[in-house]
Amino acid sequence: MTALCRTRAIILKVAGYGESDKLVTLYSPDIGRVTSIAKGAKRSKRRFVNKLEEFSLLDIIYRPPRSNGLFFLAEAELADPFLSLRTTHQRYVAAMLACELVIRFTGIQDSEPEIFSLLHWLLDSLNRETEPRKTVALFHLRLLSEGGYRPELSCCGSCHAPVNNSRSFTLQPGDGSLICNRCNPNKTRSSFSLSLQTIKFLHTAQQMEQHQLDRLQMPVRAARESLRVLHNYSRHLLQRDIHSYRFMN
Ligand SMILES: [Zn+2]
Repeated sequence: MTALCRTRAIILKVAGYGESDKLVTLYSPDIGRVTSIAKGAKRSKRRFVNKLEEFSLLDIIYRPPRSNGLFFLAEAELADPFLSLRTTHQRYVAAMLACELVIRFTGIQDSEPEIFSLLHWLLDSLNRETEPRKTVALFHLRLLSEGGYRPELSCCGSCHAPVNNSRSFTLQPGDGSLICNRCNPNKTRSSFSLSLQTIKFLHTAQQMEQHQLDRLQMPVRAARESLRVLHNYSRHLLQRDIHSYRFMN
């Protein structure tokens, strides 16, 4: 039998499994995204009580599968429950969206410590912040960069005109670059249109250190617009719906 291992992990999703077990999808800096089985978790009052909830930060002891099966969750210790994310609706839906994005944009057992760190930042920030839309928009932007889909927001990708108020810009989902209205005169307004102000906020956020992101003051309008465009861009990349997004509005 494989030896037990220990790691830190954030719960992305929990589902019932059979009569008494739970399937727990986790993201860990060491093993990436994995699905584990918590035997007896639906019944046991002791081992896993109040620990296996979405968004919880855990220290876990687990056994990896021999091939591509489920990880076995042996023990879990709660490091931070991020309690307010389950009691405040806007925070809850923002955290749900972030977890769904992590599930969609990461491969199984493909560990990227930066993504763990980003998700940890998001949960911590949502737990304190009053504007969840801003936090999840910045998270979404940075997650795209980690996944290799960083939007290029400094200039028009075609004529290289800088972003300023003499032109309007839309994001091109094919390559994540901006295009100005002179290069693309037929499409001045679309679901990928970004205002000058929003482009500047997002471009600034791309260049900040992660721990500084909380300091960025972003108007609700810019956060909404960012979420809309990043959502449409991600749908294009993934070729599928991101279900949690509709609860944000
Ligand atoms: Zn142009």
